[in-house]
Amino acid sequence: MLRVLKRLTLLLLALVAIGAAAFYVLYFHRAALPPAPPHARVAPVIARLPGLAACWVETGKTFSRFSIGMTAGSILVRHPAGDLLIDTGNSSHFRQDVSAYPFWLRWKLQSLAGQLNPEVPLPDLLRRIGEDPARLRWAILSHVHLDHAGGLMDLPRLPVLMTHEELQFANNPEIQAKGYVLAAYTKTLPQPGAPTLQFEPKAYEIFDESADLYKDGSVVAVPLRGHTPGSVGIFVNLSPTRRFFYVGDSVDDERGFEERVGKPLLLRDSDNDPALANQLVSRLSQLHEKVPGLTIIPAHGRSAYKKFFLGGPLSCVSGQ
Ligand SMILES: [Zn+2]
Repeated sequence: MLRVLKRLTLLLLALVAIGAAAFYVLYFHRAALPPAPPHARVAPVIARLPGLAACWVETGKTFSRFSIGMTAGSILVRHPAGDLLIDTGNSSHFRQDVSAYPFWLRWKLQSLAGQLNPEVPLPDLLRRIGEDPARLRWAILSHVHLDHAGGLMDLPRLPVLMTHEELQFANNPEIQAKGYVLAAYTKTLPQPGAPTLQFEPKAYEIFDESADLYKDGSVVAVPLRGHTPGSVGIFVNLSPTRRFFYVGDSVDDERGFEERVGKPLLLRDSDNDPALANQLVSRLSQLHEKVPGLTIIPAHGRSAYKKFFLGGPLSCVSGQ
């Protein structure tokens, strides 16, 4: 009897050890990455624009009491020439939207992106900060995954800025079958043959191409191919010194570019080109070294938002 008990205890301990190791590898282990090849910096000249402001519109969060807390939602850029939304978080009908997928896929989506579902729909949160959703000029998506494009389902008819590569990716049935891109969401996007965002061969910071959305240097998009083929990053320059760079899911949190380490295994699952995605993390790390005053904001990295938006969710920062 005692021997059986001893064996059972050993078995239980072994199972706990295996479980802990698997948890560590899935969630916490991050590989050190080699540095990116040196790249010259083209520092932009930034004008101070009256009326420019950015607001953090958080629609979903998880583990928010801890430093590893994650967030999802949108950043609103108030601009005299018309306001812009950067990403839109999950749809307020997320569960319904993923219900057509087979059980395992549905379970995966619900236990990853589904943790960041909105309690209050994005248009209502916008109204809380005095923004009329009907008066928005446009939205730009860092990429088309469901936890970034879903909120567009609550804002139909809003023009969306997207590259040709990302539109092709969004409309690819093989990609849709994997679940990170929902076919139903493509109706909120531009027509597949009509990209609305094109880059010019004009260097910006350490990137070779850029698109100056308002033609005044306030909001500048650059390609960040890797996580998806048409992922983009968005520089928002509220003043010469008050700037942030929203990088979508190119990096998952600040540790990625501060320590130059890859994403944990669980998050690498959604990288369309894992090798390119890793190179991009090294690139962002180089940018962080070269431009320490620039706040890099990963889409889900809650602590990075808190450093820029000192008033927390639903607060705004102006350039004045
Ligand atoms: Zn995401």
